[in-house]
Amino acid sequence: MLNKVLVANRGEIAVRIIRTCREMGIKTVAIYSEPDRFSMHARMADEAYCIGGTTAAESYLNIEAMLDVLTRSGADAVHPGYGFFSENTDFSRAVKERGAIFVGPPPEAIETMGDKISSRIAAKAAGVDGVPGTMEAITAPEEVAVFGNEHGWPVAIKAAYGGGGRGMKVVDNSESVTEALESAKREALAYFGRDEVYMEKYLSWPRHIEMQIIVDNHGNAVWLGERDCSCQRRHQKLVEETPAPNFPQDIRNAMGEAAIRVALACGYRNAGTVEFLYQDGEFYFLEMNTRLQVEHPITELVTGVDLVALQLKVAAGEPLGFSQDDVRINGHAIEVRINAEDPARGLFLPSPGSISKLIPPGGPGVRLDSGYESGDTVSQHYDNLIAKLVVWAGDREQARNRMLRALGETYIEGVKTTIPADVLILSHPDFAAAKHSTRWVESSLNFDQLDMQEPPADTKSPDDTQGSMQLQETDITAEVQGRRYRLRMWLPISDLPAAGQSPKRSANSKSGSKKRSSDQANRSMGQASGSITAPMQGTIIKVLVEVGQEVDAGQTICVLEAMKMENMIESPTSGTVKSINVSSGDYIAAGDELAVIV
Ligand code: ADP
Repeated sequence: MLNKVLVANRGEIAVRIIRTCREMGIKTVAIYSEPDRFSMHARMADEAYCIGGTTAAESYLNIEAMLDVLTRSGADAVHPGYGFFSENTDFSRAVKERGAIFVGPPPEAIETMGDKISSRIAAKAAGVDGVPGTMEAITAPEEVAVFGNEHGWPVAIKAAYGGGGRGMKVVDNSESVTEALESAKREALAYFGRDEVYMEKYLSWPRHIEMQIIVDNHGNAVWLGERDCSCQRRHQKLVEETPAPNFPQDIRNAMGEAAIRVALACGYRNAGTVEFLYQDGEFYFLEMNTRLQVEHPITELVTGVDLVALQLKVAAGEPLGFSQDDVRINGHAIEVRINAEDPARGLFLPSPGSISKLIPPGGPGVRLDSGYESGDTVSQHYDNLIAKLVVWAGDREQARNRMLRALGETYIEGVKTTIPADVLILSHPDFAAAKHSTRWVESSLNFDQLDMQEPPADTKSPDDTQGSMQLQETDITAEVQGRRYRLRMWLPISDLPAAGQSPKRSANSKSGSKKRSSDQANRSMGQASGSITAPMQGTIIKVLVEVGQEVDAGQTICVLEAMKMENMIESPTSGTVKSINVSSGDYIAAGDELAVIV
């Protein structure tokens, strides 16, 4: 059994791993960047170390800083969570060289599955076909045109090293190939450091169904049921559920067996997910994710296993302790992602900022895996997942109603969230009837009504924080030579941070935060005058027009990257570009004027 685990991650997944470690009596070590000094994961771990830096590259992707903490803390294993170092073999090998265990698959399996082209080849060798497409990188736009004309449009241009829905562009005809190819490559290089792209036929109405597998070092390989992740926006999952509704048992079994074949063919160990697209009774290998998935909790709720505990057990060399015949699926589980994004008008614009208040839901069958509490800040530098709300019930309809009830109880103030979009999805008759596909959210849902987002009525008044503001006992965080310590002090707290929280700019910021969001709204509304302003802070990736150029309403003026997403900034009107105030690489604030169209 492991003694001390370094959790090389942040946010909800770091918190989730720390919780299981605590239950297993394993000590935990957290790392945190400068903006995360007061974050929940750093507060919760037994030990926490500052690794400096602000951006992900400077902090959570800094191998040397991470290895330094591994040595200083004496941890005997590293759990990478998802994202960051979870699929980085330089890191996992370096961990091993230092005599520690990497909680995850062997580097060779990560490498085979780490890129979509080589994973398609490996799956095919294991007898599992991918979506019709190519098995090598695209070298010229003409290849896409030829493929599209032969197999039919649309065609998906996909980054071989892509993930999280990024680096994929859907092309409807040969005219748009060049721009889409360029954009896919640019996004791929920016996010994944490699710009190889390949293509697949873009299926018209598929469902995304994935299989959870786990393999130990003793010859046991099991699949733990599927997850239906068809509710997506921008090819990123919003809602996940298990079992997949209206999913024939013989296909489920065939998919589970295919997932195991793919895993064994690449020498896989530990937990992993094999993703498929399912359409017209056929399933196609999409990719394998060689790590714990964001949506793993729904599998835990219906199977009764703790996947993180199993991962730690397998990493320590212990057998799984059960076989395929022991796996039972009980009831139905649904997860929704609560992101700091404004879903108004279906735009899902990033909404970083301070969470002045967060009230979690409760009651039967409800689990909230959050990385934030009241007073915490959602930084624009990292992924904007605030929390995952997960419910379990005896059947799908009960689980759906339970989720709507739990969403109604969840109160988050200070940032916009995807909760209203989650409610819209869960209460829609198509979702209730399980008629949705991966394109349903974007093609069928009407987000216009979400413009007037108000807090749910059945939550507590935000003003009832007053009582807790009187507390005299205060936890203070101190950093001594980069290591974090907690001190408990009894002080007047009027001008101190509340227990375990970061200093607030305004302690009761209900009106402050309302003002901020309405200011932001006004700023983006200012676009109608011909002055195009930035809806959020971020970095300009590309300017697509020139001064004097004629533009149409809706034409993309520039590409703004914020919170790891490319946002197309469009002209609100037709006219001539009078001025452009930004250029590629500029870091801009929300409300900055980008261009003027007259
Ligand atoms: P990522 O690694 O970025 O998550 P995936 O290849 O797993 O990329 O695909 C993410 C989502 O994009 C899928 O769930 C699906 O909705 C959509 N997608 C990917 N490939 C195709 C395709 N060939 N046809 C239709 N949809 C696709």
